[in-house]
Amino acid sequence: MLDMLIKNGLVYQNGSFQKTNIMIKDGVFVEISNQLREAKEVYDAEGFEVIPGLIDPHVHFGLDLGFIRSVDDFDSGTVAALYGGVTSIVDFLAPTDGVKDLLKSYQERLHEAKKARIDYAFHATIKDPKNDLEAYVKTVRDLDMRTLKLFTTYSDSKRRTYDQEIIRLLNLSRIHDIMILAHVENDDMIHIDPDMTHEDLPRSRPVEAEITEALKLASYVKETKGHLYMVHVSSGETIRRLKAEYPELLGKHFMIESCPQYFTFDQSALAKANGYLYACAPPLRTQDHVQKLFDHQALIDVIGTDHCTFMKADKANRKLFEMPLGIGGIEHSFAVMRSHLGDVVIDKMTKHPARLHKLRNKGSITVGYDADLFVFKNDPNTIINGHHGTCDYTLYEGLKSAGTVISTMVRGQFAMRDGVLMNSQGQLIKGDD
Ligand SMILES: [Zn+2]
Repeated sequence: MLDMLIKNGLVYQNGSFQKTNIMIKDGVFVEISNQLREAKEVYDAEGFEVIPGLIDPHVHFGLDLGFIRSVDDFDSGTVAALYGGVTSIVDFLAPTDGVKDLLKSYQERLHEAKKARIDYAFHATIKDPKNDLEAYVKTVRDLDMRTLKLFTTYSDSKRRTYDQEIIRLLNLSRIHDIMILAHVENDDMIHIDPDMTHEDLPRSRPVEAEITEALKLASYVKETKGHLYMVHVSSGETIRRLKAEYPELLGKHFMIESCPQYFTFDQSALAKANGYLYACAPPLRTQDHVQKLFDHQALIDVIGTDHCTFMKADKANRKLFEMPLGIGGIEHSFAVMRSHLGDVVIDKMTKHPARLHKLRNKGSITVGYDADLFVFKNDPNTIINGHHGTCDYTLYEGLKSAGTVISTMVRGQFAMRDGVLMNSQGQLIKGDD
């Protein structure tokens, strides 16, 4: 007998919603049809949408910045995730410059992730590499990871990877079939003076730093035919310029991720009384750059959140150089982005991240795939009220949203049902071919 029948829902498959039934056994989808087969449990989704479990490929749980840690860990962060319909996350290993430390950071993160209530995978993170890059990349593959992140900036904290190594990594990405994730800001254009505050972020990290560095990396991608994924694009002008100069790369060799904060807020928020809460890197941009993100949304492959929460007190009354940068978003990302862009966000938060980050059997309501899904009450008049997780605020409070996540299922088990948190245990996601 089947384990679960979800009936009468409007199910998202292949780009549209159809009324149908979903049958689940042993944690996987076994049939999607108008049949009503006998199951141990039946969930009536009449009047609701049923959407593939969301994948957030950009989160920082318990991120260690040396002087502070982000406050959502793999437990509280995945509680917030469940209330947002997210069933898979990809977090980052601590930055390392050689194989030995890479292995150590993998074991450490794997241990921390045991608390996760949803499924998880990791991106390796490289910093100022000195040792054998090919050995590093091969070890990434040996650990069943398919993605490797680098920073083009943060030379002050020795995290920057320089151009020669970037080119080498792009070549290796082609040879060993991995994706290079890049935090793209021109290091030479970033300056942080001791007296700067969060209000100085736009001139400390100017938009030109993102645009010029993105164009330079695109030229390397063109040369090497490597695979690059630009994380957290903050300005639509960056995309417009990439499209103008490297149209053949976009969606093929040069992939683009953006985040809900860059669509929802602009840099004027930094001047508000609680403006420090909006401090992130790259920073919020002017309304013109925000509008261009909307204009070029079709070229954005993935929406991730860069979820990185700090308590109000952690960010208050600090100069820019000593302020932890980052904001939370995992819980409200889907509802807010759907309110902004409509149904096109669904693939950007399910199918696309599964494909680009090589997450096996994730991101689609398809027979044989993991039975990850969420039940959504679509109501464009919804206003965000409250949140979960450790943080003592959400910047999305009071904003318009596309509706409410009613229940979230991970591999055939409800991990949050009708607003109530259930017991669930996340698993490490296998890499796909
Ligand atoms: Zn990040």
